[in-house]
Amino acid sequence: MHSKLLEQLIQSLRCLPGVGPKSAQRMALHLMERNRNGAAQLSEVLREALDRLGRCGQCRALTEEPVCRLCSNPARDQSLLCVVGSPADMFAIEQAGSYRGLYFLLSGHLSPIDGIGPQEIGVDELMALLDSRPVQEVILANNPTVEGEATACYISGLLENREVAVSRIAHGVPVGGELEYVDGGTLSHAFNGRLRLR
Ligand code: ZN
Repeated sequence: MHSKLLEQLIQSLRCLPGVGPKSAQRMALHLMERNRNGAAQLSEVLREALDRLGRCGQCRALTEEPVCRLCSNPARDQSLLCVVGSPADMFAIEQAGSYRGLYFLLSGHLSPIDGIGPQEIGVDELMALLDSRPVQEVILANNPTVEGEATACYISGLLENREVAVSRIAHGVPVGGELEYVDGGTLSHAFNGRLRLR
């Protein structure tokens, strides 16, 4: 019943998380019937983001610069490196506002069942970064889920023979929860109450 192009637009919008056929149709009709300027801007920005957004050479966050603004900010504490499993976790910790060190972004967590090993999530890059930076403490802020714990444990093992302190956020973060959904106060508390692993 839809035109071929409209159908294509609806199908394309379904790549967004949580968007089913009904929502996709509503979005497509909204963009085409009510907000063509918005649609044009979305299309331009999306194209530009695809062309220019890459990964920061240090923390692996998305950025259009070779090294992101956070990593190149001289006010950040270069001796602290917080390891997180997703950009959303990084934003959540930043918004909580009490952490002033640097980050390293893993691509998710280890999951051997799904064939996701250390190389897939960027552990090699993390080790290379630790070789090249004056990091004194690695804070493992992986989600307190089974995969997050396994990842934290694995990385902690790799760091065993290095001259670096390793800690794990723990206090206040609900077990089985995702950092992204934890409120700022709880997250700040979790950071202040982090446990030294060795
Ligand atoms: Zn960076």
